[in-house]
Amino acid sequence: MIMMMKNSAKKSHSFFKEWSVMSLRNRIAFYYTITTAVLIALVFAIIYFTVERIVYKQFDDEIKKEVSEILSNSNISTHDFKGFESFQNRDIDAGDNDSDNDSIKKKKVNVDTEFIQLVDSTGQVINKSSSLSWCVLAFNPNQAGSAYFNSNFGGSMVRQAQVPLINKQGVTLGYLIVAVPLKNAMIVLHDLHDIFFFSFPVIILTLFMLTRLIAGKSIRPIEKVIATAENITQVHLDQRIPLPYHHDELYRLSATFNALLDRMQDAFQREKHFTANASHELKTPLAIVKGTLEVLIRKPREREHYETRVHSCLKELDRMARLIDQLLMIARYESNKIQPHIESVELSGHLGGIIERMLATASTKDISIIIDKTENARVAADPGMLEMIFENILSNAIKYSPTSSSITVAVQRKANTILCTISDQGIGIPAEKLNAIFERFYRVDESRNAGTGGFGLGLSIVKKLADLQHIKVGVTSETNRGTTFSLSFPIGEANC
Ligand code: ADP
Repeated sequence: MIMMMKNSAKKSHSFFKEWSVMSLRNRIAFYYTITTAVLIALVFAIIYFTVERIVYKQFDDEIKKEVSEILSNSNISTHDFKGFESFQNRDIDAGDNDSDNDSIKKKKVNVDTEFIQLVDSTGQVINKSSSLSWCVLAFNPNQAGSAYFNSNFGGSMVRQAQVPLINKQGVTLGYLIVAVPLKNAMIVLHDLHDIFFFSFPVIILTLFMLTRLIAGKSIRPIEKVIATAENITQVHLDQRIPLPYHHDELYRLSATFNALLDRMQDAFQREKHFTANASHELKTPLAIVKGTLEVLIRKPREREHYETRVHSCLKELDRMARLIDQLLMIARYESNKIQPHIESVELSGHLGGIIERMLATASTKDISIIIDKTENARVAADPGMLEMIFENILSNAIKYSPTSSSITVAVQRKANTILCTISDQGIGIPAEKLNAIFERFYRVDESRNAGTGGFGLGLSIVKKLADLQHIKVGVTSETNRGTTFSLSFPIGEANC
């Protein structure tokens, strides 16, 4: 017993395993066939039972007509079936009293004609038609009212009615039983049954095979997606799925998958460039420091010589530290570890504090920072991130401005935004390069950036931090006349 249970558990387990690895097209074909099979079976059953009902109704109507004809010609008295002598005229013989019983028994029952039989309340045959020969029709003693049913008679099916004969006093004196042969009707019903029964599995099997074929054809593009996806590696990121002819869901799937590959390839390329640029930027100061130190230890030198060289090494190391800080910052916001802590910030006041700190650097180039219009506006922002944004833009403005020039900062309300602009009178940026300045490691011109110590990362960080706080960054510039950076803050709850 336990063994049997174990075996059946094993079987059901392997069934579910097979089911779970069943191909999509088989599963589609299976579900479709099951649903259609249920529907076809339902339609067949409805057709069969409707035809059967119509056929029986016809027989029942015929019997009803016969019964009413017999009853209209007869009369039930209080105690007996007096009026039923007319049965004789309807070919009724006294079956029980027949003297030549044997010869009648030898007669074959003619199942093609109608049969009439009169029984008393106990079911004793009183009179019957000669077509019944030596047979009697089935009598159901428990039947109270009129009823129509099928019964077996002489090896053939007949449709039969059993009508109670009730006198005026309401006493059931007996029953009139009328039957008609169902032979032809039964042949039709059997044929219909056989057609349905044998055609059903053929239809279902054909349907399953056809659905499987069509489903296989329809999902062929998915197989292409799988094959392409299996082929894609970091080296083969340029492979794409051929788009299907019809603009259907599979087309969208392929197009979406291709777009995903585009983005992956793009991100992978950017990552490669970023790593190459970062290592290049780190290699340069390292090489300078290494070279300086190697020269210094070759022979003893003057104290002043050491001091200048150590200072230049420290400068390079500072540069490296700045680069590493920026790289760490980029790595943190790329991995979404930095999330802004938005609060209501009084913009002009916040800006004033940052400008004050920058004044020392500006004064080294005799640059003045002018605060033009300052509206008392509050913005929704992360104060720390906002500080980083302003510091980067202002330090660029100082870096790329000539000595004794001025930088103008303004805060004003415009339409639905608070607009903050920082304008300098510096070297400017050529129009065709304006879009690229927010890219990582992008520097407009290596030669003019010489000595600025920038890595081309500042503005990419500005852009990312601004995006995180829904601040729009814009830039306009004219070569040798100056550049204006603008930050527009949406007026929200924090603004007033
Ligand atoms: P960097 O650290 O090199 O300044 P950024 O990302 O901050 O890098 O700036 C990218 C480039 O945009 C700079 O190399 C510079 O050429 C240009 N740039 C940025 N701000 C200004 C400005 N105010 N005036 C002129 N050029 C600028």
